[in-house]
Amino acid sequence: MTRPKALISGASVAGPVLAYFLQHNGYDVTVVERAAAVRDSGYAVDFRGAAFDVLREMKLFDQVSEHNTRMRGTTLVDGSGAEIGQLPASAFAGELEVPKRELTRILHQATAGDVDYVFGDSITALSQHESGVAVEFEHRAAGEFDLLFGADGVYSNVRRLGFGPDDEVLRHLGMSGAAFSTPNYLGLDHRGLLRPGPDTAAYLFSCGDPDRLTVSLSFATASPELDRRGRTEQERAVRAAFAGQNWELPRLLDTMTGADDFSFGSSCQVQLSQWSRGRVALVGDAGYCAAPTSGMGTSQALIGARALAHHLATTGGDHKTAFPAYETQLRPYVADNQAKGRQAAMTLGGAA
Ligand SMILES: Cc1cc2nc3c(=O)[nH]c(=O)nc-3n(C[C@H](O)[C@H](O)[C@H](O)COP(=O)(O)OP(=O)(O)OC[C@H]3O[C@@H](n4cnc5c(N)ncnc54)[C@H](O)[C@@H]3O)c2cc1C
Repeated sequence: MTRPKALISGASVAGPVLAYFLQHNGYDVTVVERAAAVRDSGYAVDFRGAAFDVLREMKLFDQVSEHNTRMRGTTLVDGSGAEIGQLPASAFAGELEVPKRELTRILHQATAGDVDYVFGDSITALSQHESGVAVEFEHRAAGEFDLLFGADGVYSNVRRLGFGPDDEVLRHLGMSGAAFSTPNYLGLDHRGLLRPGPDTAAYLFSCGDPDRLTVSLSFATASPELDRRGRTEQERAVRAAFAGQNWELPRLLDTMTGADDFSFGSSCQVQLSQWSRGRVALVGDAGYCAAPTSGMGTSQALIGARALAHHLATTGGDHKTAFPAYETQLRPYVADNQAKGRQAAMTLGGAA
Protein backbone atom coordinates (compact mmCIF):
# COMPACT_ATOMS: atom_id res chain seq x y z
CA MET A 1 0.00 0.00 0.00
CA THR A 2 1.35 3.46 -0.81
CA ARG A 3 1.95 5.74 2.10
CA PRO A 4 -0.10 8.96 2.18
CA LYS A 5 1.94 12.06 1.39
CA ALA A 6 2.00 15.06 3.72
CA LEU A 7 3.61 18.42 3.05
CA ILE A 8 4.43 20.78 5.93
CA SER A 9 5.43 24.41 5.43
CA GLY A 10 7.80 25.57 8.23
CA ALA A 11 10.67 23.82 10.00
CA SER A 12 10.83 25.56 13.36
CA VAL A 13 8.83 23.96 16.20
CA ALA A 14 5.32 22.91 15.11
CA GLY A 15 6.57 21.69 11.71
CA PRO A 16 9.20 19.16 12.86
CA VAL A 17 7.00 17.93 15.74
CA LEU A 18 4.11 17.29 13.37
CA ALA A 19 6.53 15.67 10.92
CA TYR A 20 7.78 13.35 13.67
CA PHE A 21 4.33 12.07 14.61
CA LEU A 22 2.99 11.85 11.05
CA GLN A 23 6.04 9.91 9.94
CA HIS A 24 5.59 7.50 12.86
CA ASN A 25 1.95 7.08 11.81
CA GLY A 26 2.84 5.98 8.29
CA TYR A 27 3.01 9.20 6.26
CA ASP A 28 5.66 10.19 3.75
CA VAL A 29 6.54 13.65 5.01
CA THR A 30 8.16 16.59 3.22
CA VAL A 31 8.93 19.82 5.10
CA VAL A 32 9.57 22.97 3.09
CA GLU A 33 11.33 25.83 4.91
CA ARG A 34 11.92 29.31 3.53
CA ALA A 35 15.20 29.82 5.43
CA ALA A 36 18.32 28.49 3.76
CA ALA A 37 19.19 26.26 6.75
CA VAL A 38 17.93 25.36 10.22
CA ARG A 39 17.06 28.66 11.91
CA ASP A 40 19.42 30.16 14.49
CA SER A 41 17.16 32.59 16.42
CA GLY A 42 18.67 34.36 19.42
CA TYR A 43 15.85 34.39 21.96
CA ALA A 44 14.84 31.74 24.48
CA VAL A 45 11.54 29.84 24.63
CA ASP A 46 9.93 27.97 27.47
CA PHE A 47 7.73 24.95 28.08
CA ARG A 48 4.76 24.55 30.34
CA GLY A 49 2.28 21.81 31.28
CA ALA A 50 1.53 19.06 28.76
CA ALA A 51 4.33 20.24 26.44
CA PHE A 52 6.64 18.12 28.61
CA ASP A 53 4.61 15.00 27.75
CA VAL A 54 5.20 15.70 24.06
CA LEU A 55 8.97 16.06 24.60
CA ARG A 56 8.99 12.81 26.59
CA GLU A 57 6.95 10.98 23.98
CA MET A 58 9.51 12.06 21.39
CA LYS A 59 12.26 10.92 23.79
CA LEU A 60 13.79 14.37 23.63
CA PHE A 61 13.17 15.64 27.16
CA ASP A 62 16.70 14.95 28.46
CA GLN A 63 18.36 16.33 25.35
CA VAL A 64 16.31 19.53 25.46
CA SER A 65 16.76 19.92 29.23
CA GLU A 66 20.54 19.96 28.80
CA HIS A 67 20.13 23.44 27.33
CA ASN A 68 18.16 24.85 30.28
CA THR A 69 19.08 28.54 30.54
CA ARG A 70 18.79 28.29 34.36
CA MET A 71 17.59 31.85 34.69
CA ARG A 72 17.45 32.94 38.35
CA GLY A 73 15.01 35.82 38.20
CA THR A 74 14.56 39.41 37.11
CA THR A 75 15.09 42.67 39.00
CA LEU A 76 12.72 45.54 38.27
CA VAL A 77 14.47 48.91 38.20
CA ASP A 78 13.37 52.54 37.94
CA GLY A 79 14.81 55.29 35.73
CA SER A 80 17.83 55.70 37.99
CA GLY A 81 18.56 51.96 38.05
CA ALA A 82 17.33 51.56 41.65
CA GLU A 83 15.61 48.28 42.44
CA ILE A 84 11.83 48.53 42.74
CA GLY A 85 10.93 44.83 42.79
CA GLN A 86 11.77 41.24 41.91
CA LEU A 87 10.20 38.73 39.53
CA PRO A 88 10.80 34.99 39.99
CA ALA A 89 12.52 33.02 37.21
CA SER A 90 9.17 31.38 36.34
CA ALA A 91 7.74 34.75 35.19
CA PHE A 92 9.75 34.63 31.95
CA ALA A 93 11.35 31.21 31.89
CA GLY A 94 8.41 28.90 32.70
CA GLU A 95 9.27 25.46 34.04
CA LEU A 96 12.10 24.97 31.53
CA GLU A 97 13.60 27.54 29.18
CA VAL A 98 16.06 26.86 26.35
CA PRO A 99 17.52 28.92 23.50
CA LYS A 100 15.15 28.48 20.56
CA ARG A 101 18.02 27.63 18.21
CA GLU A 102 18.83 24.54 20.34
CA LEU A 103 15.22 23.37 20.30
CA THR A 104 14.94 23.81 16.52
CA ARG A 105 18.24 22.03 15.98
CA ILE A 106 17.23 19.08 18.20
CA LEU A 107 13.81 18.74 16.53
CA HIS A 108 15.40 18.81 13.09
CA GLN A 109 18.03 16.27 14.09
CA ALA A 110 15.38 13.93 15.53
CA THR A 111 13.44 13.88 12.26
CA ALA A 112 15.97 14.52 9.47
CA GLY A 113 16.65 10.80 8.92
CA ASP A 114 13.03 10.00 8.05
CA VAL A 115 11.62 13.26 6.75
CA ASP A 116 12.50 15.03 3.51
CA TYR A 117 13.56 18.59 4.44
CA VAL A 118 13.70 21.18 1.67
CA PHE A 119 15.39 24.43 2.75
CA GLY A 120 15.40 27.70 0.85
CA ASP A 121 12.03 27.19 -0.81
CA SER A 122 8.42 28.24 -0.32
CA ILE A 123 4.95 27.37 -1.60
CA THR A 124 3.64 29.83 -4.21
CA ALA A 125 0.23 28.31 -5.02
CA LEU A 126 -2.10 25.57 -3.85
CA SER A 127 -5.34 24.16 -5.15
CA GLN A 128 -7.46 21.44 -3.62
CA HIS A 129 -9.40 18.78 -5.43
CA GLU A 130 -11.34 15.70 -4.32
CA SER A 131 -8.32 13.45 -3.73
CA GLY A 132 -5.47 15.81 -2.90
CA VAL A 133 -3.75 19.18 -2.91
CA ALA A 134 -1.71 20.42 -5.87
CA VAL A 135 1.17 22.61 -4.73
CA GLU A 136 3.58 24.87 -6.61
CA PHE A 137 6.90 26.04 -5.22
CA GLU A 138 9.30 28.91 -5.86
CA HIS A 139 12.12 26.58 -6.89
CA ARG A 140 11.25 22.89 -6.97
CA ALA A 141 8.83 21.20 -9.33
CA ALA A 142 5.11 21.24 -8.50
CA GLY A 143 3.78 18.26 -6.50
CA GLU A 144 0.65 16.43 -5.34
CA PHE A 145 0.03 15.73 -1.66
CA ASP A 146 -2.77 14.11 0.32
CA LEU A 147 -2.58 16.70 3.08
CA LEU A 148 -0.95 20.11 3.49
CA PHE A 149 -0.07 21.75 6.83
CA GLY A 150 0.84 25.35 7.54
CA ALA A 151 3.39 25.44 10.39
CA ASP A 152 4.94 28.62 9.06
CA GLY A 153 4.41 31.02 11.92
CA VAL A 154 2.41 34.14 12.65
CA TYR A 155 2.72 35.47 9.08
CA SER A 156 1.93 32.02 7.63
CA ASN A 157 2.25 31.60 3.90
CA VAL A 158 -0.15 28.64 3.76
CA ARG A 159 -2.74 30.65 5.70
CA ARG A 160 -2.45 33.55 3.26
CA LEU A 161 -2.77 31.24 0.25
CA GLY A 162 -5.50 29.00 1.62
CA PHE A 163 -7.50 31.02 4.17
CA GLY A 164 -7.26 34.74 3.40
CA PRO A 165 -5.23 37.92 3.98
CA ASP A 166 -3.33 38.64 7.21
CA ASP A 167 -5.35 41.79 7.98
CA GLU A 168 -8.45 39.69 8.58
CA VAL A 169 -6.92 37.35 11.14
CA LEU A 170 -4.09 39.21 12.91
CA ARG A 171 -4.94 41.00 16.13
CA HIS A 172 -2.27 43.51 17.09
CA LEU A 173 -1.72 43.69 20.87
CA GLY A 174 -0.54 47.29 20.83
CA MET A 175 3.18 46.72 21.15
CA SER A 176 6.24 46.11 19.01
CA GLY A 177 9.84 45.54 19.92
CA ALA A 178 13.44 45.25 18.83
CA ALA A 179 15.87 42.62 20.08
CA PHE A 180 19.64 42.39 19.73
CA SER A 181 22.65 41.38 21.76
CA THR A 182 25.67 43.26 23.04
CA PRO A 183 28.69 42.40 25.21
CA ASN A 184 27.62 41.67 28.79
CA TYR A 185 29.02 44.93 30.19
CA LEU A 186 26.64 44.77 33.18
CA GLY A 187 27.97 41.37 34.25
CA LEU A 188 24.50 39.82 34.53
CA ASP A 189 24.74 36.15 35.46
CA HIS A 190 21.59 34.18 34.58
CA ARG A 191 19.57 37.18 35.62
CA GLY A 192 17.39 39.79 33.97
CA LEU A 193 16.76 43.51 34.50
CA LEU A 194 13.41 45.00 33.58
CA ARG A 195 12.86 48.74 33.31
CA PRO A 196 9.16 49.47 32.79
CA GLY A 197 8.77 53.02 31.42
CA PRO A 198 5.87 55.04 30.08
CA ASP A 199 4.47 52.86 27.23
CA THR A 200 7.83 51.07 27.04
CA ALA A 201 9.69 48.16 28.60
CA ALA A 202 13.43 47.49 28.41
CA TYR A 203 14.41 43.95 29.33
CA LEU A 204 18.04 42.80 29.49
CA PHE A 205 19.27 39.36 30.42
CA SER A 206 22.25 37.09 30.12
CA CYS A 207 22.12 33.31 30.00
CA GLY A 208 23.84 30.67 27.91
CA ASP A 209 26.77 32.73 26.67
CA PRO A 210 28.02 34.63 29.77
CA ASP A 211 29.75 37.22 27.55
CA ARG A 212 26.56 38.37 25.82
CA LEU A 213 23.63 40.43 27.00
CA THR A 214 20.31 40.07 25.17
CA VAL A 215 18.35 43.31 24.92
CA SER A 216 14.65 43.61 24.21
CA LEU A 217 13.15 47.09 23.79
CA SER A 218 9.34 47.09 23.47
CA PHE A 219 7.01 50.01 23.04
CA ALA A 220 3.39 50.82 22.32
CA THR A 221 2.36 50.85 18.64
CA ALA A 222 -0.96 51.28 16.89
CA SER A 223 -0.41 48.56 14.26
CA PRO A 224 2.15 45.96 13.12
CA GLU A 225 2.99 48.16 10.13
CA LEU A 226 6.63 48.61 11.23
CA ASP A 227 7.22 44.87 10.73
CA ARG A 228 7.03 45.48 6.99
CA ARG A 229 9.46 48.41 7.03
CA GLY A 230 13.24 48.35 6.84
CA ARG A 231 15.65 48.36 9.75
CA THR A 232 16.37 52.11 9.54
CA GLU A 233 12.73 52.97 10.10
CA GLN A 234 12.35 50.37 12.82
CA GLU A 235 15.38 51.71 14.69
CA ARG A 236 14.07 55.26 14.33
CA ALA A 237 10.79 54.21 15.96
CA VAL A 238 12.63 52.51 18.84
CA ARG A 239 14.71 55.66 19.43
CA ALA A 240 11.64 57.87 19.41
CA ALA A 241 9.84 55.61 21.90
CA PHE A 242 12.75 55.58 24.38
CA ALA A 243 13.87 59.20 23.83
CA GLY A 244 14.66 61.02 27.07
CA GLN A 245 14.87 57.88 29.22
CA ASN A 246 17.88 57.51 31.51
CA TRP A 247 19.47 54.45 33.06
CA GLU A 248 21.21 52.28 30.41
CA LEU A 249 18.92 53.41 27.59
CA PRO A 250 21.21 55.95 25.83
CA ARG A 251 24.02 53.38 25.69
CA LEU A 252 21.73 50.57 24.54
CA LEU A 253 20.24 52.72 21.79
CA ASP A 254 23.76 53.49 20.55
CA THR A 255 24.65 49.79 20.59
CA MET A 256 21.51 48.85 18.65
CA THR A 257 22.78 50.44 15.44
CA GLY A 258 25.88 48.25 15.25
CA ALA A 259 24.17 45.00 16.31
CA ASP A 260 24.46 42.30 13.68
CA ASP A 261 21.63 40.23 15.20
CA PHE A 262 18.97 42.99 15.26
CA SER A 263 15.41 41.71 14.89
CA PHE A 264 12.06 43.44 15.05
CA GLY A 265 8.53 42.18 15.55
CA SER A 266 5.08 43.17 16.76
CA SER A 267 2.99 41.29 19.27
CA CYS A 268 0.10 39.82 17.31
CA GLN A 269 -2.38 37.04 17.84
CA VAL A 270 -3.88 34.90 15.12
CA GLN A 271 -7.65 34.62 15.46
CA LEU A 272 -9.27 32.38 12.88
CA SER A 273 -12.80 31.00 12.85
CA GLN A 274 -11.53 27.70 11.41
CA TRP A 275 -8.07 26.11 11.52
CA SER A 276 -8.59 23.89 8.50
CA ARG A 277 -10.08 24.03 5.05
CA GLY A 278 -10.56 20.76 3.24
CA ARG A 279 -7.19 19.00 3.15
CA VAL A 280 -5.24 21.97 4.52
CA ALA A 281 -4.75 22.56 8.28
CA LEU A 282 -2.81 25.08 10.35
CA VAL A 283 -0.73 24.31 13.42
CA GLY A 284 1.18 26.39 15.99
CA ASP A 285 1.54 30.16 15.52
CA ALA A 286 0.18 29.91 11.96
CA GLY A 287 -3.25 28.86 13.25
CA TYR A 288 -3.53 30.34 16.73
CA CYS A 289 -0.52 32.41 17.79
CA ALA A 290 -1.04 33.63 21.36
CA ALA A 291 1.74 36.30 21.08
CA PRO A 292 5.21 36.17 22.67
CA THR A 293 3.76 37.89 25.77
CA SER A 294 1.74 34.75 26.57
CA GLY A 295 4.86 32.64 27.08
CA MET A 296 2.77 29.77 25.67
CA GLY A 297 3.67 29.74 21.96
CA THR A 298 6.17 26.91 22.10
CA SER A 299 4.00 24.73 24.31
CA GLN A 300 1.03 25.37 22.00
CA ALA A 301 3.11 24.41 18.96
CA LEU A 302 4.18 21.11 20.56
CA ILE A 303 0.75 20.24 21.95
CA GLY A 304 -1.07 21.32 18.79
CA ALA A 305 1.16 19.30 16.48
CA ARG A 306 0.83 16.24 18.70
CA ALA A 307 -2.99 16.57 18.85
CA LEU A 308 -3.32 17.03 15.10
CA ALA A 309 -1.29 13.91 14.35
CA HIS A 310 -3.13 11.97 17.04
CA HIS A 311 -6.57 12.71 15.56
CA LEU A 312 -5.36 11.73 12.09
CA ALA A 313 -4.02 8.46 13.51
CA THR A 314 -7.18 7.57 15.43
CA THR A 315 -9.46 8.31 12.46
CA GLY A 316 -7.39 6.25 10.03
CA GLY A 317 -6.32 9.44 8.22
CA ASP A 318 -9.85 10.75 7.70
CA HIS A 319 -9.08 14.48 7.67
CA LYS A 320 -12.78 15.39 7.52
CA THR A 321 -13.21 13.98 11.05
CA ALA A 322 -9.68 14.52 12.38
CA PHE A 323 -9.32 18.25 11.65
CA PRO A 324 -12.53 19.35 13.46
CA ALA A 325 -11.70 17.02 16.38
CA TYR A 326 -8.24 18.60 16.68
CA GLU A 327 -9.81 22.04 16.75
CA THR A 328 -12.48 21.10 19.30
CA GLN A 329 -9.84 19.65 21.60
CA LEU A 330 -7.48 22.63 21.43
CA ARG A 331 -9.80 25.67 21.27
CA PRO A 332 -10.30 26.12 25.06
CA TYR A 333 -6.55 25.80 25.71
CA VAL A 334 -5.73 28.34 23.00
CA ALA A 335 -8.43 30.76 24.22
CA ASP A 336 -6.89 30.66 27.68
CA ASN A 337 -3.36 31.26 26.33
CA GLN A 338 -4.52 34.13 24.14
CA ALA A 339 -6.20 35.77 27.16
CA LYS A 340 -2.85 35.49 28.99
CA GLY A 341 -1.05 37.03 26.00
CA ARG A 342 -3.40 40.04 25.93
CA GLN A 343 -3.19 40.55 29.68
CA ALA A 344 0.63 40.47 29.69
CA ALA A 345 0.79 42.84 26.71
CA MET A 346 -1.29 45.38 28.61
CA THR A 347 0.99 45.07 31.64
CA LEU A 348 4.01 45.76 29.43
CA GLY A 349 2.55 48.91 27.92
CA GLY A 350 0.48 47.53 25.03
CA ALA A 351 -3.13 48.40 24.39
CA ALA A 352 -4.69 44.97 23.97
C1 LIG B 1 10.92 37.74 20.54
C2 LIG B 1 10.12 36.50 20.81
C3 LIG B 1 10.16 35.93 22.07
C4 LIG B 1 9.43 34.77 22.33
N1 LIG B 1 9.48 34.22 23.57
C5 LIG B 1 8.79 33.09 23.82
C6 LIG B 1 8.84 32.49 25.09
O1 LIG B 1 9.50 32.98 26.01
N2 LIG B 1 8.15 31.34 25.29
C7 LIG B 1 7.41 30.76 24.30
O2 LIG B 1 6.81 29.71 24.51
N3 LIG B 1 7.34 31.31 23.09
C8 LIG B 1 7.99 32.47 22.83
N4 LIG B 1 7.92 33.03 21.60
C9 LIG B 1 7.01 32.45 20.61
C10 LIG B 1 7.57 31.19 19.99
O3 LIG B 1 8.80 31.45 19.36
C11 LIG B 1 6.53 30.69 18.98
O4 LIG B 1 5.26 30.66 19.54
C12 LIG B 1 6.86 29.29 18.53
O5 LIG B 1 8.15 29.28 17.97
C13 LIG B 1 5.85 28.84 17.49
O6 LIG B 1 6.40 27.85 16.70
P1 LIG B 1 5.91 27.63 15.20
O7 LIG B 1 6.71 26.48 14.72
O8 LIG B 1 4.45 27.58 15.16
O9 LIG B 1 6.30 28.96 14.42
P2 LIG B 1 7.72 29.65 14.20
O10 LIG B 1 8.67 29.30 15.28
O11 LIG B 1 7.45 31.09 13.95
O12 LIG B 1 8.25 28.99 12.87
C14 LIG B 1 7.73 29.25 11.60
C15 LIG B 1 8.70 28.68 10.58
O13 LIG B 1 8.12 28.81 9.29
C16 LIG B 1 9.08 29.32 8.41
N5 LIG B 1 8.42 30.02 7.32
C17 LIG B 1 7.86 31.26 7.33
N6 LIG B 1 7.37 31.54 6.12
C18 LIG B 1 7.60 30.47 5.34
C19 LIG B 1 7.33 30.17 3.97
N7 LIG B 1 6.76 31.07 3.17
N8 LIG B 1 7.70 28.97 3.49
C20 LIG B 1 8.35 28.06 4.27
N9 LIG B 1 8.65 28.30 5.58
C21 LIG B 1 8.27 29.50 6.10
C22 LIG B 1 9.94 30.24 9.28
O14 LIG B 1 11.20 30.48 8.68
C23 LIG B 1 10.04 29.42 10.55
O15 LIG B 1 11.10 28.50 10.49
C24 LIG B 1 8.64 34.19 21.31
C25 LIG B 1 8.60 34.77 20.04
C26 LIG B 1 9.32 35.92 19.79
C27 LIG B 1 9.26 36.53 18.41
